Amino acid sequence: MDKIRVRSTIVEMDGDEMARIMWKLVKDKLLLPHLSMNIEYYDLHIKNRDATNDRVTVDAARALMRHGVGVKCATITPNQERASEYNLKKLWRSPNATIREMLDGTVFRKPILVKNVLPSVSTWKKPITIGRHAHGDVYSNVEMRIDTPGKAELLFTPEGGGSTIKQTIEEFKGPGIIQGIHNSDESIENFARVCFMYALDQKIDFWFSSKDTISQIYDGRFRDIFEKEYIENWKGKFDQAGISYFYTLIDDAAARIMKSEGGLLWALKNYDGDVMSDMIASASGSLAMMTSVLISPHGYSEYEAAHGTVQKHYYKYLRSEETSTNPMAIIFAWLGCLRKRAAMDATPEVGAFADILETAAISTVESGVMTGDLLSVAKRSPKNRKVNTETFIDAIAKNLRKKLFG
Ligand code: NAP
Ligand code: MG
Repeated sequence: MDKIRVRSTIVEMDGDEMARIMWKLVKDKLLLPHLSMNIEYYDLHIKNRDATNDRVTVDAARALMRHGVGVKCATITPNQERASEYNLKKLWRSPNATIREMLDGTVFRKPILVKNVLPSVSTWKKPITIGRHAHGDVYSNVEMRIDTPGKAELLFTPEGGGSTIKQTIEEFKGPGIIQGIHNSDESIENFARVCFMYALDQKIDFWFSSKDTISQIYDGRFRDIFEKEYIENWKGKFDQAGISYFYTLIDDAAARIMKSEGGLLWALKNYDGDVMSDMIASASGSLAMMTSVLISPHGYSEYEAAHGTVQKHYYKYLRSEETSTNPMAIIFAWLGCLRKRAAMDATPEVGAFADILETAAISTVESGVMTGDLLSVAKRSPKNRKVNTETFIDAIAKNLRKKLFG
């Protein structure tokens, strides 16, 4: 049987620990037996980032910008502990932060739904996708501890002269704290554009929320940029597709989401998106049942799993103990990447393969064969069986062969 050919290059970024172990199993057992792929491989293993002075991360991001589509395994973001564990030259930056910055992207996270794991919120019937602005706000803040009474001021000095703008933040009578955050119109415009693009592509309603009643200038700017972008570039297309754009206060959105059916995109500022995406993931059963894609306004897409390297399971693996780690998010990262390649290359057979692999993976879980994280949250059934990492992937592989070859 001839393998299905993926025409253009996929940029592959390998990672660390248990995620790396699953990554190889998924490639060897589910992809390579059926696909012939042009892969440009970058090894982001922590030791290789260290050996290349993190050059490999920048090279991988550049390759992604050249080829348009990439898929990334979870990687260690080094802290002091990791630096001693791996004898690192320094605390290299998070590869995700480096790549996000180079791509200026928005992160979309969407749960993977299976019939036998019900969301904690009973009204949710369809997935809720979070679109998180991955730029600025508290993630690149400047903050200060104040020890004595005194005046804190906000000061802006225009480049090349002109009068400064000054405002009092607070006249401190005693110790306290202050924080400065920022964002740029350009990044907010990109964020808005990518979100409208995503909602239209997926044909789902789109909510954006912030706290513009309290933060009238900062959050108000987000609201106004989204509104302008919608009216100027998307309203016609949204009307035609039968989908809607809706702005509301974040507390109102939080209340409404609990009563909604799902099946929508909820875009949020950086911090709000950080918090809400973990809430949606956990309400959907497991961190391993969450897909994640970084989409840049220039048209590049990077697919990944939303979870980390699953360190605890990796240590068990190293001690030759059995692991039951869930590879679903890793499989879905590859699915997203294959579908994107298929759409860009006009190769529907590649997209069809992705659909079959998705069905094989979902139906394996729905048949009761699952990893430990799911067993504890799945609907009770005598068919439920906890299997180890490799057995789970083998079960999907068998299912896949059956669907492909009968
Ligand atoms: P984590 O790897 O996501 O794991 C946290 C816990 O969640 C695990 O101990 C496990 O719980 C559960 N879990 C996560 N993924 C799972 C899976 N696929 N199957 C089953 N259970 C799963 O987060 P972490 O332990 O905080 O971080 C470990 C390393 O990952 C860190 O070095 C961090 O820098 C890195 N990280 C990387 C990324 C990324 O590259 N995208 C994201 C986050 C973290 P139980 O132990 O209860 O089974
Ligand atoms: Mg978070």
